[in-house]
Amino acid sequence: MEKEKADIRKLALKEIVSFCEENSLKSFRGKQVYEWLWKRSAKTFDEMNNLPKNARQIFSTQFVINPLQISNIQKSKDGTIKTAFKLFDGGLVEGVMIPSEKRATACISSQVGCNLACTFCATGKLKLLRNLGPGEIYDQLVVIKQQAKEHNNTPLSNIVLMGMGEPLLNYKNVLQAINNMISEKGLGLSPRRITLSTSGVIKGIMKLADENVKFNLAVSLHTADNDKRNRIMPVNKTNPLDKLAKAIQYFHEKTGKRITFEYLLLKDFNDSLADAQKLAEYCKIVPCKVNLIEFNATGDGLFKKSPKLKTEAFYNFLESKNMVVNIRSSRGEDIDAACGQLANRAGSEKVKK
Ligand code: SAH
Ligand code: SF4
Repeated sequence: MEKEKADIRKLALKEIVSFCEENSLKSFRGKQVYEWLWKRSAKTFDEMNNLPKNARQIFSTQFVINPLQISNIQKSKDGTIKTAFKLFDGGLVEGVMIPSEKRATACISSQVGCNLACTFCATGKLKLLRNLGPGEIYDQLVVIKQQAKEHNNTPLSNIVLMGMGEPLLNYKNVLQAINNMISEKGLGLSPRRITLSTSGVIKGIMKLADENVKFNLAVSLHTADNDKRNRIMPVNKTNPLDKLAKAIQYFHEKTGKRITFEYLLLKDFNDSLADAQKLAEYCKIVPCKVNLIEFNATGDGLFKKSPKLKTEAFYNFLESKNMVVNIRSSRGEDIDAACGQLANRAGSEKVKK
């Protein structure tokens, strides 16, 4: 049987350069290949026309490129565009372009499904089928960047890893994808525009701190009460709020960055003023801002959106404590493109395990 070829976009630049040296190719060929892969989104080695034919052949006998394919595009009445991407093994993930007047945000996925099973999240109802490779994470952004230009006539102003999956449980590939988004050899985006959202994976937060990353960190808190958090986010059982606080403080010390806390308002569960008071206390651990997120229905009726008056009271309470707070309203709800609604059940089931 033919040996399975490796996905070349899992290799760092220096690994591609060493591959060239080991195969009697000039080392600058490695840089050229890298640019074709990341800056020019080449889908085949054949199109790398500044490489000699034998070099292209050597690469294609050893490696594959595995580009993402667009499987379906849906447009919401508010202009939000959701794209389903087909992976080489048949799996599907989703990415979203969220336009506004002068800017556009890209929301991208890091895993097919998610094992963390938060009870309010549609992705959490799918098992984790596999991690996305660095190229698969990056390609979503290339497509969404183009959509922002074509449909909204704006560049991308923000990139959020808030689609399907827990990015810190696919640490290496996510970091490689982000590094290429930032690198001049890739998209050359400013790291300040990129936000990674985690449900609170302590080990991953510590690692980001040690690497002194330049992009932003958002933590999906949703409640500052440890028992309540255990009930809606199983990840909290092994990553409890007190230990999470220490990791977040460490991240802030190392990077100097302000943290974003995400707080999903669930009717009669975490939307009282006592809950707001607890949140305000917890937030004292670091300089931060709070995004209050409206709950988007996921079909099981387990939770309901907090009523407008309660949301406002919650917001006003935090503001009265001089906290930086925003209310994030849903976008693209009519096409299941809003936070927590990305699932694509039918497609994901096709992935071979
Ligand atoms: N796994 C990461 C990133 C993906 S989820 C995380 O949990 O942070 C992105 C955001 O969507 C998280 O803040 C998550 O809590 C939120 N979310 C999940 N389900 C939601 C729902 N039904 N309505 C609104 N937001 C939801
Ligand atoms: Fe996974 Fe995030 Fe959904 Fe929780 S909210 S199940 S961590 S994708």
